[in-house]
Amino acid sequence: MVVLAPLLAEVVTESAQVHDISAQVVTKSAQIHIFTAQVVTNLDLISIKLDCDRGRIKEPTNESNNKGANHMPTKKLYYQDQYLQSFTANLQGSGKDDQGRLYVVLDQTAFYPTGGGQPHDTGTLNGVNVYDVEEVDGEIRHYLEEPAKGDHTFIGEIDWERRFDHMQQHAGQHILSAAFDNEFGLKTVSFHLGTELCSIDLETANLTDEEAAQAEAIANKIILENRPLETKWVTENELAAYSLRKAVSVTDDIRLVIIPEFDYNGCGGTHPDSCGQVQSIKILHWEKQKKQKLRVYFVCGSRVLQQLGAKHQVTQQLTATLNAPQKKLDEAADKALQQIKEHEKTIDTLKLELIKYEANAFIEHATFTHDRNIVQAIFQDRPMRELQQLAKQITMNATNVLVLLISETDNKLQLVCSKSDDILVNMNDLVQQTLPLINGKGGGNRSTAQGGGDKAIAAEQVMEALMNQVSSKLSDR
Ligand SMILES: [Zn+2]
Repeated sequence: MVVLAPLLAEVVTESAQVHDISAQVVTKSAQIHIFTAQVVTNLDLISIKLDCDRGRIKEPTNESNNKGANHMPTKKLYYQDQYLQSFTANLQGSGKDDQGRLYVVLDQTAFYPTGGGQPHDTGTLNGVNVYDVEEVDGEIRHYLEEPAKGDHTFIGEIDWERRFDHMQQHAGQHILSAAFDNEFGLKTVSFHLGTELCSIDLETANLTDEEAAQAEAIANKIILENRPLETKWVTENELAAYSLRKAVSVTDDIRLVIIPEFDYNGCGGTHPDSCGQVQSIKILHWEKQKKQKLRVYFVCGSRVLQQLGAKHQVTQQLTATLNAPQKKLDEAADKALQQIKEHEKTIDTLKLELIKYEANAFIEHATFTHDRNIVQAIFQDRPMRELQQLAKQITMNATNVLVLLISETDNKLQLVCSKSDDILVNMNDLVQQTLPLINGKGGGNRSTAQGGGDKAIAAEQVMEALMNQVSSKLSDR
């Protein structure tokens, strides 16, 4: 038990919203100076934090002509009729938030503000796009893409495709969470409604394929039976009559979402009025989370069809590319990857063979300077590994030889310096003294060293610098 107190807050929200994720503590009183909340679960702690944020007293900014605290709370039309797609309302206030975003507040609205795991609605107000809706300090702010057209009456249009999708996903989550809870006692501790997928976190470290299939089957049965999805406002005293899936922390005006004889849950979101409208639920996959939790991904409604369509398209492309039927795609993909690995090995072996021939050619054409055989070469875009292999082959197959190799790309230079055992010049010294010319880094030992840097000067100039050092070191001896 955690007790939060005291907390100075002005709570002006009129209606209660209770959600299985973020229940809203609501009171009709205008000012509460000491607020004591008993937190029963972690979820309630989150919800109370949200409510505290929402209840914070905020001074109106200079930019705002919002009538703020004085106006009546916005009437939430989405609670009267969740199917309302257009409405008329009067302006109550307008302003700019801290980030300079324009908003208007209306006397009533069908726009659902972000809350309870459900994203906000979008749409238009007098033809201007509403891109975000938030409930702040008890007022519902409609954020507009451009200044409002009109200063009194507004006609609002909801993006219905988006809203109905949210209603399907949200109601589907209730059904799926209840199925997991009723059948296996697995509690849902959070819900995420994403743009493509939804997820719930279950309070368990493990889930079997059979359990997931069973929960999914129960959920789809509830949908097929087309049970009603009812909402009911109740008081704390009336709560006792319901077997709630999760305790609620509110004390007044609690909104219950009820699927008779299946699920009773506090929630402030929007849902269709019957389970049949959820269409179907498909669990996609699940993954382990920290603290003994499991995230189950799923989709409902039209998203099931979208997922099927998208996945079938990918499957069709893969069956053509891999020339295998759907059931053998994983086998065919494994085989193709295995072949690539084998080919890479073969290519490496063949490249090394070629490097051996190349090394012999370099040995034959080495210049004889200061009584030493010097091999110098500048390559374009040659990997460091090949430079090293080439240098190694030359120094293994010749005596009295010193090798200076450079590879240049558009903006980088790499170099390898190597020698046969019978030469005493220290290759690491040679490389370390040259790298500053190209702001480079590298290292090695007496016999072989390498490094790379920017193409601050031409490859030919680097080679000349290397040769000058070699000459001075050899003539010192
Ligand atoms: Zn809900």
